[in-house]
Amino acid sequence: MRVAVISDIHANRQALEAVLSAVDAIGADELWCLGDLVGYGADPNDCVQLVREHASVCLAGNHDLAVTGDLRLDDFSRGAALAARWTLDVIGDSELKWLSSLPSEATAEEVGLFHGSPRDPVWEYVISTLLADLCFDTMRTRIGLIGHSHVALAFHRTETELATGDARRIGDSVDASSDRWLLNPGSVGQPRDGDPRAAWLLLDTESSVVTWQRTEYDIAGAAAAIRAARLPDSLADRLQYGQ
Ligand code: ZN
Repeated sequence: MRVAVISDIHANRQALEAVLSAVDAIGADELWCLGDLVGYGADPNDCVQLVREHASVCLAGNHDLAVTGDLRLDDFSRGAALAARWTLDVIGDSELKWLSSLPSEATAEEVGLFHGSPRDPVWEYVISTLLADLCFDTMRTRIGLIGHSHVALAFHRTETELATGDARRIGDSVDASSDRWLLNPGSVGQPRDGDPRAAWLLLDTESSVVTWQRTEYDIAGAAAAIRAARLPDSLADRLQYGQ
C-alpha cells in the first residue's frame, strides 16, 4: 500500500488542496495525517473538513488541542495563542467536535504515528540525534512517523550504532526496510526548512521505501487570507520564505 503522510497543515487551505491534488495524481491508497490541522492559518474549517474526508488516520497536534481546550494557551507563543483564540471564534461545532475526538498517537500497518515524538506525542520536538536515540529506546514499532518540527527529516538507527539524522529535500528517498527509522514529512502549511513549498512524504508499506515530496501552491493566496483575517502579519510573511 502507498500512503501519503501529511502533517502540520495549520489551516492553510491553499497548501492542503495542492497536496491533495498531488496525492491524487500519484495514486496513493491512503492518507495519514499527523496533526496540527489548525492554528496560524486562515481556513481551519475547510482544512478540518478536507482532512476528515480524505484521511484514514488522523492525530491531534498541540495546536489542535489548544483549540479544543485540552492544552492551556499560556504554554504557547504569543502569535500561536492569538491564532488559537481566533480559530476558536470561527471554528464550526462539528469541526471542533471532530478535532476533540482525535488521538495524539496511533499505529497503522505496524508503523507508529506521533504528532511530536514517541516519548511525548504532543509537545516534544525531535530535531537532534540525541533526542532521536531516546525516542528509539521508547518506540515499540520499527518505523515511526513524526511531525511538529515543520522540518522534513529522517533519523536512522542500526543495531550497533547511535542514531544519525539528516534534513530531507524534494525527491530524497530512503529504503527503510531494515534498521529503525523516525521520519518527518515536514509541514504542509508552514514549512520551516527554507523550502516554501508544501511538504509531505510517500511511504510504501510493503517495500518500506519512503520518498519526500514538495508541492507548489498559491502562497500569495494563503498569505492574503491570513491578512484578511487580521491574524499577525508575521504569519503571512513567513510563508514565502519557508521559515
Ligand atoms: Zn505544527
